[in-house]
Amino acid sequence: MALITISGYPSSGKSQRAAQLKRHLESRLADPSYTGPTLSVVLLSDDTLNIDRSSYNDSRSEKPARGTLFTAVQRSLAQNTIVIVDSLNYIKGFRYQMYCVAREIKVRVCTVYVLATPDLCKQWNTERTDGKAYAPETLANLLQRYEEPSSMVRWDSPLFTVSWTDEDVPADDIWRAITEGVVKPPNTGT
Ligand code: ADP
Repeated sequence: MALITISGYPSSGKSQRAAQLKRHLESRLADPSYTGPTLSVVLLSDDTLNIDRSSYNDSRSEKPARGTLFTAVQRSLAQNTIVIVDSLNYIKGFRYQMYCVAREIKVRVCTVYVLATPDLCKQWNTERTDGKAYAPETLANLLQRYEEPSSMVRWDSPLFTVSWTDEDVPADDIWRAITEGVVKPPNTGT
């Protein structure tokens, strides 16, 4: 039914945002006022797919990790699922590939860009106690190679940006984008 791609720097808060969004979507679907089709929310992440953070240490191990993620996305996309892909998704070409698969089976798409400064990501990565920290040189490398999503290209659009200072994800706008294809116009200040 929909593919929601989360993208952002390593240790920028993607998993936290993905979990927030999943909770919002599930409560919408469980609400008595919801009369649409029965849908389930599937969260795919490096953790659910057992992809170790060390896979990002070099391109030889990163390629199969991306392959695993891509296969899981292909398998999970369906008319009755909302798939959230919580991973770095930092390569434009990879986001484009996922977009193509989604369009092929005619599900709606959107991208959530989780924004935090490189310094904060480094700090949060160092402070991690969940065993999911990136090696410092891997983190630096990924920060450098990160290909920012853009609302100007169809495969990243509609694009929702969540900053580290935001309390919550724009769940209502995302819900409208995936259920009705409606996107709030950019704030023009008028
Ligand atoms: P990612 O999925 O991008 O690797 P996580 O959501 O796992 O990031 O968060 C990485 C670390 O950063 C966690 O320890 C988390 O507590 C911390 N963190 C994430 N977002 C924030 C925030 N907005 N403020 C403070 N700490 C945060």
